[in-house]
Amino acid sequence: MAFEAESDFSKQLTTRHKCSACFKQYNKKEHLVEHMKVSYHSVHQPRCGVCLKHCKSFESLREHVIGPLPKEDCSRVFSEQGCNLCLKVFDSPISLSEHKRSCRLPAPSPIGTMKLPYSDPIVVSHNGRGPGAIAIDCEMVGGGDDGTLDLCALVCLIDEDENVIFHTYVRPQIPVTNYRYEITGLTEEHLRDAMPLKLVQEKILQILYNGESIVRARMQGGKARLLVGHALEHDLDCLRMTYPDNLLRDTAKYPPLMKTNLVCHSLKYLTQKYLGQVLLGCFIDNDLEFSLVF
Ligand SMILES: [Zn+2]
Ligand SMILES: [Zn+2]
Ligand SMILES: [Zn+2]
Repeated sequence: MAFEAESDFSKQLTTRHKCSACFKQYNKKEHLVEHMKVSYHSVHQPRCGVCLKHCKSFESLREHVIGPLPKEDCSRVFSEQGCNLCLKVFDSPISLSEHKRSCRLPAPSPIGTMKLPYSDPIVVSHNGRGPGAIAIDCEMVGGGDDGTLDLCALVCLIDEDENVIFHTYVRPQIPVTNYRYEITGLTEEHLRDAMPLKLVQEKILQILYNGESIVRARMQGGKARLLVGHALEHDLDCLRMTYPDNLLRDTAKYPPLMKTNLVCHSLKYLTQKYLGQVLLGCFIDNDLEFSLVF
């Protein structure tokens, strides 16, 4: 009798219940089931390239392979074959260094605050060199009864050297019911003689397509420029514009810069973490703070 009880006990110790996704172990099966219910493991969770464990976010995967207290085996392999940026693990140090050429972004130099003209649009012809990338940011004011409808009130495009190549206030198509002044710094004054949305669209598309045909831009890009931004859908929506998916580079959708495979970080977090700058908001007394990440 006593012997039986003892063997049951040792059996219990050796058959702990392990989650096949994150490898957490439980003495009781119910606890594992409960864990599975609340942890939402899915193919969207980033995975350690060495032990294949699912981690709940890129941050926890980073902790798992880099530290401060990493999983020893994984961190050893990762230090030789892992990419610090996207956290993927490669077959060999050679394939890693090949990968790094395309994965590693050069550190951007800090950008200061710029004074911009009160209402005159800036349009600079930008034909100096190859297609390159253009970053966009829009400032929105509120329309509709409750002021929640986003209306584009200002748009700014900068090139890879951080030159402002297009900047204009945009005349809203319907009445503005909330200028959101604390965030936008915009007043009625700014938008009074502003450029009509249709003309703004034309100018932006002219800069982006850069003389390339729409068909070719969609297929291979050609001379058309890459459009960089954070949550670009939002900017394009408020401009009522579309641009080919293959030419979009969105910091809210680029996995190495995301919190998990599904959830993005805020622009505020990204600027702080990767550029070492504090994002104060777009406008403070009409000083424009450029904070897009290239
Ligand atoms: Zn788990
Ligand atoms: Zn691992
Ligand atoms: Zn990488």
